[in-house]
Amino acid sequence: MGFPEVVKRIEDLRDDSVQFLSRICSIPALGPENAGIGEMAKYIVVKDEVLKLKPDEIIELPAPDNRVPDGVRPNLLAIFNGRDRSRTLWILSHVDVVPVGELRLWDADPFQPHVEGGYLYGRGVEDNGQALAASVFAVRAVRETAEFAVNVGLALVSDEENGSLFGLDYVLRTRPDLFGPHDLILAPDAGSKDGDVIEISEKHLYHVKFTVSGKQGHASRPDKCLNTLRVASHMIVAIDEALHRRFPDTDTFFSPPESTFEPTKKDSNVQNVNTIPGEDVFYFDCRVLPQIDLADVLAEMNSTAKSVAERFGAQIRIEEFLRSESPHGTPADSPVVIELAQAIQEIYGVQPRPCGIGGQTVATFFRKKGLAAAVWEKIEGWAHAPNERILVDNLVGNTKVFARLMI
Ligand SMILES: [Zn+2]
Repeated sequence: MGFPEVVKRIEDLRDDSVQFLSRICSIPALGPENAGIGEMAKYIVVKDEVLKLKPDEIIELPAPDNRVPDGVRPNLLAIFNGRDRSRTLWILSHVDVVPVGELRLWDADPFQPHVEGGYLYGRGVEDNGQALAASVFAVRAVRETAEFAVNVGLALVSDEENGSLFGLDYVLRTRPDLFGPHDLILAPDAGSKDGDVIEISEKHLYHVKFTVSGKQGHASRPDKCLNTLRVASHMIVAIDEALHRRFPDTDTFFSPPESTFEPTKKDSNVQNVNTIPGEDVFYFDCRVLPQIDLADVLAEMNSTAKSVAERFGAQIRIEEFLRSESPHGTPADSPVVIELAQAIQEIYGVQPRPCGIGGQTVATFFRKKGLAAAVWEKIEGWAHAPNERILVDNLVGNTKVFARLMI
């Protein structure tokens, strides 16, 4: 039996895959940072479905976490043997979701998924349910009609939305032996509407905190105060201009092609309008092209902020808030990228291009270990938004792409 039978089976299973995705997305799976009780209830349903596929090997790696009632954050790796056992096609998706946000912005209950006009609505249906269901149903369709060419591994992990410490990071720390240099690793957790973008590289992520100290006092006596909001305002403009002047490099491989330096968060200062603030705290979010050294970015911030502080006679403290340097990207000619591009072209008729992004995905954890990982999905782009939805056609199409890689 060949691929046409697999495709036929996937199409026959269309309603089953929508039902499965609806069922798992009716169970909230929020981490403790989001006042949730973890992933266990949803995980049990997912695991049940995977067990029905009779994997050749099941590895459970529960990460201890006493903040949740079950005491663990579950992680599952299910392996299906292929003709060629020397390498494994891994498809990694995450079970956890983000909170619904403002409930009044939703037109329906986020945890009662429903189909309307070709879309399935609900929290988690896109991020990351579509990928999870597609990988499970790709395995099912191949299992029922054909044979796996290589080993296929489904990796279903927790805690992606809050840093992966109890998810992929835990899996890689406890069982680094599971992933080899010849494996094809796919993390379908970001993508584009046309399905024509394969993400293989990411910018450095850098958050820097600035604390300006001056002198608080009555707003009618600025002569006796040192207004830190004024100093901070000058500083933000100066840092913004200095960074863009010093690091103008562009790389069209990335979108956007330049490094970005955005002033974002501003801690609140005084409670009342008639007080001059004596301390102000603000932050920059920087997404820096990988060829730039973050030490140079920090040095530029330091010298610019210091000269503004000196001009006004204020004190400035600069701290690294978050520094996540990107590892080398996945080579554009690595097998996972080439095979994936072929499968996408066959199913969707588009010519995918490898690219880099400013965000960071779980692929970073693999790349830090020197493993080639690709990020791809055809999605509508509703992750984390109210009325999150997927096109059911994409669920079915992506299932075919995954299945194509399996046989
Ligand atoms: Zn996600």
